[in-house]
Amino acid sequence: MKILIAEDDMTSRLVLGATLKKLGHEVTATNDGQQAWDAMDREHFPLLISDWMMPDVDGLELCRRIRAAHRSEYTYIVLLTALGGKSSYLDGMDAGADDFITKPFDEDTLVARLRVAERILALHETLRTQAMFDGLTGLLNRTAITRCLAAEMERTARDGKDLSIVLLDLDHFKQVNDVHGHAAGDAVLKEAARRMATSMRGYDQVGRYGGEEFLVVAPGCPGKDVLTLAERVRHCIGREAVDIGEEMLPVSCSLGAAVTSFDTKETADALIARADAALYRAKAGGRSRTELATATDEVAVMKSGGIKT
Ligand SMILES: [Mg+2]
Repeated sequence: MKILIAEDDMTSRLVLGATLKKLGHEVTATNDGQQAWDAMDREHFPLLISDWMMPDVDGLELCRRIRAAHRSEYTYIVLLTALGGKSSYLDGMDAGADDFITKPFDEDTLVARLRVAERILALHETLRTQAMFDGLTGLLNRTAITRCLAAEMERTARDGKDLSIVLLDLDHFKQVNDVHGHAAGDAVLKEAARRMATSMRGYDQVGRYGGEEFLVVAPGCPGKDVLTLAERVRHCIGREAVDIGEEMLPVSCSLGAAVTSFDTKETADALIARADAALYRAKAGGRSRTELATATDEVAVMKSGGIKT
């Protein structure tokens, strides 16, 4: 397990680090709360073992900062304490600590606490995964793909690169459900999702945005490339009919792509609205095609709602 140590006492830090390494863990050691906080900004550590008393940012403050950041991956926090006493434990719990180890620690206690940490972390990971993925298609769900878009837009602003998105809607999907039943509809959604996932670049993300609507987030993808990406996805979905049991059903999809640049300061909602307007044009233009959003597509957004399928 990747473990971060925050401890200002050098002897304690070295002993703890050496013990954890001997137990097979990957250890990063920092000298105080601020250094630990900076390290957590660079990468995720599932477990933090932090001293309570440290100069400037102490263990309690570090706990509070971590909990206030609401990162999607959980960090289990063990506070090292020489204080003892019920009230201080409660202060630690209130600040966000999960467990405590009294200094000087013995190895058995440390191993036992690590086992508890691993159990809780495994549970957190299971819940996090369940909360992120769409049960039918296995793609990211709407909450997760929206969060992913927000994160990528922040990164775009930092890195000065373009970001593209594609909204994809399966054509005449309502008819599939009406004529062939919901099991056939589910089979089409699952197969379309599988084809989508295989036609992405490694760093693109795709999620189920609505019933038969999907959102692709393509970081670092300029305008000319997003059309290539969208067309590749469209061809991959429509290339072969989908096996729905009683027959092979041809499927197609319409796509609306939109590109945002780091300097436009566009919101995620506005970007999605432009892609939605382009998708509407693709539907209105005869379906089974891709349209690229223009800068003025926002004004057309209000008129575009709801007329898809
Ligand atoms: Mg200390």
